[in-house]
Amino acid sequence: MEILRTVREMQQRARDEKRTGRLIGFVPTMGCLHEGHLSLVKLARARADLVVLSIFVNPIQFLPGEDFFRYPRPVERDEALCRDAGVDVLFYPDVEQMYAPDHSVMIEETLLSKGLCGASRPGHFTGVATVVVKLLNIVMPDFAVFGQKDAQQLRVIQRLIRDLNCPVDIIPGPIVREWDGLAMSSRNRYLTPAEHQDALCLRRSLDHVEKRVREGELTVETLRTELAQRLARVPSVRVEYIEFVDNETLRPVERVEGAVLVALAIRIGSTRLIDNTVLGS
Ligand code: AMP
Repeated sequence: MEILRTVREMQQRARDEKRTGRLIGFVPTMGCLHEGHLSLVKLARARADLVVLSIFVNPIQFLPGEDFFRYPRPVERDEALCRDAGVDVLFYPDVEQMYAPDHSVMIEETLLSKGLCGASRPGHFTGVATVVVKLLNIVMPDFAVFGQKDAQQLRVIQRLIRDLNCPVDIIPGPIVREWDGLAMSSRNRYLTPAEHQDALCLRRSLDHVEKRVREGELTVETLRTELAQRLARVPSVRVEYIEFVDNETLRPVERVEGAVLVALAIRIGSTRLIDNTVLGS
């Protein structure tokens, strides 16, 4: 596995690869890798000749006071996991490589990024969109893989690719969970064992909603109330949002008709966790 740290080296490598007609598959991450990330590598490995994984904790997608400085960066472990997973190139730039001191261009998605996480993290998706476009220009992949765990991010990126005519296919990967149902996340490391137990209410409340829909309950107000009641039973949980939205447009819906995304964000202690499921698909 090659480790490239500069934009110039990565672009040169991508150009060489493209000249020989080889397909580049790309998995962008912020590191602290887990099985969720590795499942995306597997999807890329199955289709690409060259698999590039990037690790970059992108400062401009964090709001002041968020966890940018304490975000876990287990460098050697991540490298070993990439090697074992069959990553060909690990792109590992530092902040100075990615942003000039007078960096002044941002990419803003103006519709899908405003609700859900965008409401409580204003500017977050502009940071995401900007770094994704930069990474695509550096890695020049034929396709890039993103997890459904970050459902809104996936939608925003698909819109970005469509509206800016980026020559890249986006491949979604399903949510990978711990054995107990908690969606894998680098931020799960922040949880104490007791908080981890409490966080299981996320998956359980989504399971409950799925069951109620199977039983024929399609009214969102009823489903939302039942979901909120389940979360309220766990005293350490503070709900940030519970949203039922159209899976494509992310607009709120009143009934479960067509594919409906149920998206949750909660805080437990100082840790913010998200989870989701798609109903009726
Ligand atoms: P992150 O390192 O958190 O920025 O995530 C990098 C990529 O991995 C994003 O496309 C995420 O959606 C995806 N990802 C993170 N956690 C999971 C998971 N549990 N299952 C599937 N994909 C995930």
